[in-house]
Amino acid sequence: MAGIKEKIYNNLPYPFKFILLNIKGYLNTKQRYNKEFKVYLKEHIDLWDADLDSVTKYQNEKLSIVLSEALEHSDWYGDIMRALGITLQDIEKDPMRVLQKMPILKKTDRKTKVDLIVNKKRETAMVGHTSGTSGSPTIDYLDLDSINVSFAIWKRFHHAIGVIPGNKQVRFSGRLIVDTETKKPPFWVYNYFEKQLLMSTYHLTADNLGSYIKKLNKFKPELIDGYPSAIYIISKYINKQNISLSFTPKAIAVTAETLYDYQRIEIEKAFNCHVFNQYASSEGSPFITECVKGNLHLNLDSGVFEFINTKGEPAQAGEIAKLVVTSFINYKTPLIRYDIGDTVLLSKEEEQCDCGCKMPIIEKIIGREDDILWTEEKGYVGRMDTAYKGLKGIVKSQIIQETPEKIIVNLIADTDFDDPMKQQLLGNLKDRLGQKIEYQINEVDDIVLGPNGKFDAVKRNFELEF
Ligand SMILES: [Zn+2]
Repeated sequence: MAGIKEKIYNNLPYPFKFILLNIKGYLNTKQRYNKEFKVYLKEHIDLWDADLDSVTKYQNEKLSIVLSEALEHSDWYGDIMRALGITLQDIEKDPMRVLQKMPILKKTDRKTKVDLIVNKKRETAMVGHTSGTSGSPTIDYLDLDSINVSFAIWKRFHHAIGVIPGNKQVRFSGRLIVDTETKKPPFWVYNYFEKQLLMSTYHLTADNLGSYIKKLNKFKPELIDGYPSAIYIISKYINKQNISLSFTPKAIAVTAETLYDYQRIEIEKAFNCHVFNQYASSEGSPFITECVKGNLHLNLDSGVFEFINTKGEPAQAGEIAKLVVTSFINYKTPLIRYDIGDTVLLSKEEEQCDCGCKMPIIEKIIGREDDILWTEEKGYVGRMDTAYKGLKGIVKSQIIQETPEKIIVNLIADTDFDDPMKQQLLGNLKDRLGQKIEYQINEVDDIVLGPNGKFDAVKRNFELEF
């Protein structure tokens, strides 16, 4: 369904795109920012400044709700918990202890067993499709309450970094907002209801960057958010051309991709503004957000974080750790001890941030090692996982750019991956990387892991001069 809607939207003339996007914007705004949202927002703003005992108490209460609903309304978790002899009384008495008894939820189970995992008590308000970095999409069922809570916590992040409701925003995300073949501006669409200008990340070629900057200067956003790779490309251009902007945003907030230090330096220089990193996921993982003092706080009121080191043991201070999360922002598709596939670096010693928030901090989000690709036709392309959207039958996939003119896709496929699927994948790749280069799609039995046992979903085998 998502694929068809996307196709219809992509083929519409620009004015209709604007209208359709704003109808969607209006409906989204109405759904997200309702009465319950306002209650949650106040609650979470208060928790940001609260003492650690109050935060921990809140965390225990929410965990108790997640576990109780899982026991009673999820077939998957219910079976596991009954087999372990876990009762509602146990949960009520000590939810953290119960959590420690639970097995880790693997990514493959989250993906393939979603119909068993869902919480049958909660009504579905939205169905999302995440195209994960490993290539095969995941379905997310969300209930209204969870949507309201996640937007409240996201807006609390804005509140903490000085962005207030009504501030003008620019967003660079992986959505295809304008026709990929378009050679002339606009490469953006304005969403009136969110005061948000959505800028395309698929038209960032040297020829177009000037018009992006002209538009930014006219729009004067107070917040710029989205993929760091896209904001980086614009920043590099601004710095290289010595362009001075006619506005200074209050904040730049990046998410969804690993923020590299070289990107932060370039972006902060171009916009004369601090870059705030934010970790979240469309599956509903709890949040990690950067504060005004530049520290990354674990938002304990959005979930429970556990850290596992490379040996599979609880990680110690200063270690690189795998993130295992339990979420309070997705009750419909519960995530309990979920191995989300991201890594972080823990702080060397237990530090207290002096921004006022008492929630613990970590050193760094290491994230995934997605790489930036480059073609002459499309310029820099920083996010390729959206190329798998709407496709069936891909078990695992890797995109390798051998040279600026050659892309190799190695994929492990099942029987659903037929010729039309292959053509669709090819079309998606061409939309993003251009028509003129060579594509080679190989169906393989295995994909070798990269250094440190990491899976490289995207790899570039030549040096890029930024
Ligand atoms: Zn802080």
